[in-house]
Amino acid sequence: MELVTSQFSHPAAGSAVFPLLVDPASYEPSTIDLLSDAQGRETWLRIFESHLPGLVRLAAQSQDQLPDAASRAAALGEAFARVLREYRRDPCAHGPPSVLRFCTIRQELLDRFGFDDPYRPIKECENTAAMRILPQVLRELDALPPDQRLAAALSNIFAGNLFDMGCAGTIAMYESGQVEFRAAQRRLPPRPWSVDDLDAAATRFSTPPPHRKAVIFVDNAGGDAVLGMLPLAHYLLERGAEVVLTANSRPALNDVTHEELRRLVEQAGEIDPVLQRASGDGRLQLVPSGNGIPLIDLSRVSRELAASAQGADLLVLEGMGRALETNFHARFTVDTLKLAMVKEQHVADTIGARLYEPVCRFEPAPAAR
Ligand code: MG
Repeated sequence: MELVTSQFSHPAAGSAVFPLLVDPASYEPSTIDLLSDAQGRETWLRIFESHLPGLVRLAAQSQDQLPDAASRAAALGEAFARVLREYRRDPCAHGPPSVLRFCTIRQELLDRFGFDDPYRPIKECENTAAMRILPQVLRELDALPPDQRLAAALSNIFAGNLFDMGCAGTIAMYESGQVEFRAAQRRLPPRPWSVDDLDAAATRFSTPPPHRKAVIFVDNAGGDAVLGMLPLAHYLLERGAEVVLTANSRPALNDVTHEELRRLVEQAGEIDPVLQRASGDGRLQLVPSGNGIPLIDLSRVSRELAASAQGADLLVLEGMGRALETNFHARFTVDTLKLAMVKEQHVADTIGARLYEPVCRFEPAPAAR
């Protein structure tokens, strides 16, 4: 397959500006400037290089019924390795360097070499395992006094975002998912964290009026979406808010897609009357974000998301890609929660956090500051 490496577009993006940005004209999605920081650039080139063999292996496995899968996967690996080497020689080899740019090119190469969704089997396995624990996680949340539910919902999010649950096998799935999610909950470091606005968030949530409408960007499949974000949606719906859940339009690594999330919400509705009712009466909406990479450029979301975000007064950005590597410095017109578990040392250094520490940033709407 002939590869024209100079022609990487922006295949993974929508065409509308996210309407909750304070200043779209000066919006810069990337948190980390890899153009002026040569050392940071080298660090990220190495991170992408170190993840590549695993991606090649998964890509080949995901189509192991096709005779050419292994050779296409190898060619994909070589093509992306070449791009990274070219960036090492020329910092602007394929456009200004950024984590967002590297992710976009990787995704475009996956598409070109015919790998639509290498993580599909893993995502399905993790979704199934997490779904079995959901009833218990919702019961625990509902049993708490109302003033403790936000902190508990956020702990679930951090635990879910920490751990890719992994699937030991179908029989042990429930047990392994259960054990790993609980272990992740127990392993959360004690507060205060380096970036810790939980008290300010809790104060806002306990002060009337409650939020009317929340837009929530969801990150990974499995425990992250099912045990972190669905219970958060449940909690906000119970408080009377409308909720817009937005996930990637197209697959990117182990991120949950819009289509997968739709099925998860349907399944969750079977055991949770709150999600069931809200899906029925339109207070819970699911919209594709327009995005197809693990980070997000909010100047290029789907028109559908831009329309659904109108009238929102709460924004939740979840996960390292959407809340830290991009958008950490972005300012929004509404109360904003930026939530993630830090899993890369360079990200930790950039935002002043520690590795494997939750980041809980709460930024009140500018009018309320
Ligand atoms: Mg992700």
